[in-house]
Amino acid sequence: MKFATIAIHAGQEPDSATGAVSVPIYQTSTYAQEGLGKHKGYEYARTQNPTRLALEANLAALEGGAASFAFASGMAAIHAVMTLLQAGDHVVVSDNTYGGTFRLFDKILKKFGLAFTYVDAREPHLVEEAVQPETRMVFVETPTNPVMSLVDIAAVAETTRRRGIRLVVDNTFMSPFFQRPLELGADIVAHSTTKYLNGHSDSIGGALILNDKEDILRLAFIQNAAGAILSPMDSWLVMRGTKTLAVRMRQHDGNGRLVAQFLAEHPRVKKVYYPGLKSHPQHELAKRQMAGFGGMLSFETGSLKNAKGVLEAVRLCTLAESLGGVETLISHPATMTHASVPEVERNRLGITDGLVRISVGIEDAEDIIADLDNALAHLDR
Ligand code: PLP
Repeated sequence: MKFATIAIHAGQEPDSATGAVSVPIYQTSTYAQEGLGKHKGYEYARTQNPTRLALEANLAALEGGAASFAFASGMAAIHAVMTLLQAGDHVVVSDNTYGGTFRLFDKILKKFGLAFTYVDAREPHLVEEAVQPETRMVFVETPTNPVMSLVDIAAVAETTRRRGIRLVVDNTFMSPFFQRPLELGADIVAHSTTKYLNGHSDSIGGALILNDKEDILRLAFIQNAAGAILSPMDSWLVMRGTKTLAVRMRQHDGNGRLVAQFLAEHPRVKKVYYPGLKSHPQHELAKRQMAGFGGMLSFETGSLKNAKGVLEAVRLCTLAESLGGVETLISHPATMTHASVPEVERNRLGITDGLVRISVGIEDAEDIIADLDNALAHLDR
C-alpha cells in the first residue's frame, strides 16, 4: 500500500465493540478484569490504552518501523530515547538542533553522567571524527531548525553501522511523507507530533519509531516505567492529523516553494534558507534524501529592527512559536525557539537577530505572499 492509504488505514480497525470507524477515545485509567489474571490484555492505562496503541501502529507504519511509542511531548520522546543510555556514555549531536533538545542534553542529562559532543554534521566525516570509545549514540536533526541545513543520513548511518552505534534522527521538520530515516539506515526516528503529524496546532506530543527488537523491549519498559505517555485524547488528535498528512504535506511543500521564491527575489531580503532553492548549498542532497522540501524556511532581514518590523506588520501570519500546523506561523528564533542557545553559539549557527522563521501553512499561497509583501514594504533596505 502507498503512503496516503497507509496513513488512513494503518492501526485503524473498526472498533471491535461497536464498529465505530473512528478509533474511540478510550478515556479510562483502568480496565475491569474478569478474574485474577483474567483480562482482555488491558490492565492499567499507563501501560496499555487502545487509542494510543492505534496511533502507535499508525506511526510505525508511516515511518516503516516495527514499533512506535507515543509520549506526552517531543521532549519526553527525546528524553526517553536518551534513557537507553547510561552514565559514562557519550553522544555525538548535530550542532544545530532544536534549542529545547540542546537544553535537555546540556542542563539535565549532563548531570546524570552523559557526555555530548556537538559537531557540524553537514560534514559526515566530522561525526566520524567525534566518535570515542564511549560513544553509544549519534543524534541528528535534519533539516535543522531554523537555518535548514541538512545531514546526509545515509552517510552518517554508514559510520554508525560500522561502529555499532545507534543513529537517532529527529524527523519532525519533514515528516515521514518527505523523509524516511529508517530506510536511509537510521535506527530510531524521533518526532514532535505537535508539528506536522498532528498538523492542527491543538496537541502536544512526541513519538519514537524503530526496528531493533531489543530496543523495542527497552523502550516499552521505559515508556511504562517513566510514564510520560501520550493521553488518549491527544493520541486521537494526532491520529486524525496523520489521516490527512499526505494532502497537507503536498500543500505545505507547494506553498513553501512559492513563498521561498518570492522572498529570494525580494530586494529587502538578504538571504533565504530553504532546501528547495537552487541557491541552498545542500540542494542536491535535499533532492536525493527528501521527497519534497516542506514548508519550513527562514530569511535574513539584516537587523533586529527589521525582523521586529516584519513580525509586527504581518496580519495573516501569526506570530507564534511552533510549526507544522495548517496556519502560517512566523517567529523570531533568536528570542523565541532558540533563546536557550548561548548568543555566541547562535551567531555562529547563523541564528542572528535579523533572522525570521516561517512555518508556511496551507492557506492560499497568494494570501501568504501578499501579507509578507506588505510587511516587507516597511523595512529599511
Ligand atoms: N524536535 C524539534 C525539531 C522541534 O522543533 C521541537 C519543538 O519545537 C521538538 C523536538 C520538541 O517537541 P515538543 O515541543 O513537542 O516537546
